[in-house]
Amino acid sequence: MDFENLIEEVSTNATMENCLKLLERADSYEKVKLLLDFAGKIRDENVGRTLKLDSFVYPIKSCKMKKYCIYCSNYVEKFRLEALSIEEFRVAIDFIRDRGMKRVTLEGGYNEDNSKIPEMIKIARRAKLEVAIDTYPIKSEEIDVFKSLGVSEVYASIEIAEKDLFNYFKPEEKFEDRLRLAKEMCEKKIGVSSTIIIGLPNVGEEVWIKGLLLLKEFDSLKHCVISSFNPVYGTPLEDFQPLSPVSVAKFVALARIVLKDKDISACGSVGIQALPLMLIAGANRAYLGAYVCRARTRKGFSEEIGEVFKPDYEAEIRNGLVFADPSKAVERVCKDLGFEIL
Ligand code: SF4
Repeated sequence: MDFENLIEEVSTNATMENCLKLLERADSYEKVKLLLDFAGKIRDENVGRTLKLDSFVYPIKSCKMKKYCIYCSNYVEKFRLEALSIEEFRVAIDFIRDRGMKRVTLEGGYNEDNSKIPEMIKIARRAKLEVAIDTYPIKSEEIDVFKSLGVSEVYASIEIAEKDLFNYFKPEEKFEDRLRLAKEMCEKKIGVSSTIIIGLPNVGEEVWIKGLLLLKEFDSLKHCVISSFNPVYGTPLEDFQPLSPVSVAKFVALARIVLKDKDISACGSVGIQALPLMLIAGANRAYLGAYVCRARTRKGFSEEIGEVFKPDYEAEIRNGLVFADPSKAVERVCKDLGFEIL
């Protein structure tokens, strides 16, 4: 079968076998271009040539585990962050609203205490923002509360779609719990967002594809986030390399071909510099709106905020919080590519 027919076949009937073959055979400039063009066209036809810009606040809960996920910055004690207080959260939402954002994700670590979340949702909704919740664990009755408060999406992330590997990288959580949460949200008809991590060492492409095929079954799926492994100093994975942006783009394209009209974004090792490539590959969403997070070092989120060259976007530290806004840089990319920002 020639490559173009293979893309068509994946588009009409995606299976593990043909998706794997597609990624394997996309190994030249011509084929990658064909794949990305096909995916971009599907995005245009199904969701338009548009970019939804997501903003976020982090962390709304600190992560408290006995055994932290081995790829995460929380694995390293000095990188763990205290949750924002309600007062700090209010200031964060004012900043995000004033920057003209339309949606915000409330991101937090693993922690049983969800008691502050309803108040935070109310603050964000009063600012007329669409709200997504990305934190664990979430109880069934909490989904009802979030829904009644007007939350649009809740994360139930597949992350690593293979039980043993999931347990290896995330020793304190269970893959089954994520699946149960996603199914419950589908029953309760609340939008599901789900992250698939790609590029973790010794996790093959078949595991990434398994994640995609699983997500395809979720009726309420709204947003698939493709997170490319980004090595963190001090973790057992610090010596591994992230994927190339082209490998990420190929998987974004596959996700678009399989999931057609769902929102798709890429994050992790691919930042604002890779945004044009992700859009060309079929993405329609990005976590590159204004955001607020607890400052990790005296310079902010990392020690790398530029001292020689001007950074890609402004980031300012006030009272221990980073206030950053990549949206102007995103606007320039979207203008150059003819994308409308939603
Ligand atoms: S639960 Fe989330 S925040 Fe906590 S260690 Fe794992 S990935 Fe990191």
